[in-house]
Formats: sequence, C-alpha cells, structure tokens
Amino acid sequence: MEFELIARHFTRAAPGAVLGVGDDCALLAPSPGMQLAVSSDMLLEGRHFSPQDSPAGLGHKSLAVNLSDLAAMGATPRWATLAIALPAADDAWLTAFARGFFRMADQHGIELVGGDTTRGALTISITVIGEVPPSQALLREGARAGDDIWVSGVIGSAALALAYRQGRLFMEQIDAAKVLPALYLPTPRIELGIALRGVASSAIDISDGLLADLGHILERSNVGAKLEFATLPTLPVAQAYLHEPVARDCMLAGGDDYELCFTAPVSRRDAVAAAAQSAGVAVTRIGRITAEPGLAVVDANGQALHFDRTGYDHFDE
Ligand code: ADP
Ligand code: MG
Repeated sequence: MEFELIARHFTRAAPGAVLGVGDDCALLAPSPGMQLAVSSDMLLEGRHFSPQDSPAGLGHKSLAVNLSDLAAMGATPRWATLAIALPAADDAWLTAFARGFFRMADQHGIELVGGDTTRGALTISITVIGEVPPSQALLREGARAGDDIWVSGVIGSAALALAYRQGRLFMEQIDAAKVLPALYLPTPRIELGIALRGVASSAIDISDGLLADLGHILERSNVGAKLEFATLPTLPVAQAYLHEPVARDCMLAGGDDYELCFTAPVSRRDAVAAAAQSAGVAVTRIGRITAEPGLAVVDANGQALHFDRTGYDHFDE
C-alpha cells in the first residue's frame, strides 16, 4: 500500500537531480561553485492547520512556508523532501494534497526527490534545499545603524484572517474573504530574495510576526530599530479594522505573513526598488535601524506606542 501510494502521488520526474524518488537515497549534484541552503519546517494538525482545511491548500502552504525560508536566505530553490504521517491512505485527500504541493513546486522550480510516508496523526515535514553563491546569502546578522527597514507586500492579513476564523475579531464576510487567502495560500518571495543578493544587509521571513522576526535581526546584528506604525503596508480592507486593538496586534505580532523583512543601507534605495520591480512585488520602508538596542514603534506624531511583543491582547495606546 505504502509503495503504491508513493508511486502514485509522490513520484515525478526530477530532471534536476541525479536520482530522485525510489532508491534508498536521492542523489544530488549542486551547481559548480554554489553553496547549499537547507531548511526544514514541520506542520502539525491542530497546531498549524485544522482538520477541515483543504488538502490542496495544505499542499500549497506546507511547501510555501519552507520555500519562504529559502527566499529569506536569497537562495534559489532546487530540491525538496517530504515526510508525511497520515491516519489513513485517503486517495482523494492525497490527490488534492499532491496537486497543491506540485503546483507550488512547479511555480518555483523545486523538485521532490524523496521523503518518508508512515501512518500516524497527520504531520507534514518538508526539507528544502536551495543554492546561493558563496558569501551572498542574506543573513540575519548584517543590519547596521542607519539602514532602512523594509517589508515586502502587505502584513497582518493572515493574522486578521486567523483572528476572524477564531472569533477574536468580527469582520464583514466580504472583508474576511479578502484576507483569508493570505492565511491559506501564502506566497513565498523567492524572486525578491534572489534579487536582494548583494543589496540587502540582512533579511528574515515574517512567520511569527513582524516584531518577533525583526527582533531576530536586531539580536543577531546587535542593533535596535524604530518603526513607524502608520507606514506598515496593509491591505486596504485592513484599515477599517485598525481601531480594534486585536487588529493592530495582527500587524505587529501576527504570524504567517511569509513576507520578507530586510534591511539595506540608505544608499541602496534605488537598488532595492529595482530588485522589487524585477521581482514584481511592492516593498515599503517602515523604519530605521538604530545603534541603541531596543525596538520602538511610534505613531505619526513620533509618540511611542506600547505593545507586548508576544501577546495579542496587550496593545494599549
Ligand atoms: P526506505 O525504507 O529506504 O526508507 P521508503 O519505502 O521509505 O524507503 O521510501 C521509498 C522511496 O520513496 C524513497 O526513495 C523515499 O525517498 C521515497 N518516498 C517515501 N515517501 C515519500 C514521500 N512522501 N514523498 C516523496 N518521496 C517519498
Ligand atoms: Mg523510509
């Protein structure tokens, strides 16, 4: 049963590999002179998704969140492995999951070359392997005082959708429909990450929330930051809810955006704009790196806003 399942759903030609699915190991030959970037992310039912989520969406998202780590590194996607535990061999579920997975894979030129399949509580663990030229990977540690802080796309949408789904935020249905895709079908910013090689001084993808993830850059780079709340890019629909503390928390502390947060010297603003244009994604300047440590968020008048970096409920004026 297991072999048939692997053959039917997870075995596809992998022309970029020396040997793909079917033997004890895959065989991979990196492009000459390139370094490999490797990352794993695991998704658990009940924690990262719920049982009623669409299997095609799950295939998309589980690979997208892994690709997002390659994007944040400036790496070009090459190969992936997929370890999956399933409570039962549900053919319709697997067909839909594989459809979502391979559509995302094809969009970004990544090939499934191996994995493991076993019976158990639904768990999806993916490892992605990408390539990056030596010393061009975008690390968390390169931010310098005076650098601009940028984010791609819009932020907070996925967290708004989750808050709506969990009944923590009332939204009109027509509005909710505009934020839900961010939660279920995130877009990894692969092209942007690659275009930012040699331009960005540091980068991270926003998986745990802007403040938490920017906080990792600050810690690793030994610097601080000042963010202007009013400059944070949102979907237009989100503006109507920002009077709600929970919605403001979604902007700062909400996870699952999978946008890139990165820094670059002020002298590289044109290069950042060119990178964004070539990648076909908007980027927005949201603040500055400071020499003094700490992360301040200010309003349009320069007044400090107080927040709890980890909480949803403690964003007070
Ligand atoms: P082994 O017993 O040597 O671990 P398996 O029976 O687990 O072999 O897997 C057989 C082949 O199928 C291997 O090449 C493995 O990488 C691949 N494989 C197993 N599960 C998956 C999966 N979910 N997706 C892709 N490849 C898989
Ligand atoms: Mg195995």
